[in-house]
Amino acid sequence: MKVRLRVYGPLLVAGLFWGGLEGKAGVVGFCALFAAGVLIWTLLEYLIHRFAFHGFAPHWQHHHDPIDPAFILAPLWLSLSASGVLWVLLSVAAHSAARGALMAAGIVAGPGRCCGACENITTITTSPATGSATG
Ligand SMILES: [Zn+2]
Repeated sequence: MKVRLRVYGPLLVAGLFWGGLEGKAGVVGFCALFAAGVLIWTLLEYLIHRFAFHGFAPHWQHHHDPIDPAFILAPLWLSLSASGVLWVLLSVAAHSAARGALMAAGIVAGPGRCCGACENITTITTSPATGSATG
């Protein structure tokens, strides 16, 4: 977890500064682009979990032992690669690498990254219906 903070913390700050200084989006645009990143990751995280993890990817270990850190987060190499691809796609969509970096900062800072793991643990371990894994 500390490694992720050391990796994603500077990327988050860099994305905010680059997007703020070079993005030329104004205050409202800055906030909208950052919020778009948060929303995009929240949606992507749900879709990946729902259709990939519960479809074909090995995922049962996470539900069997939801608080084991080894099964909460994707490997750093995969997470960084996916973040890079998302930054490129967002930059193309926004016609600006700086605005793409601002949205990528929203992805990094969003609940999908920072709180998703904790929320996932809470959801899985406190399922009122059966008391079993449902996430
Ligand atoms: Zn699951």
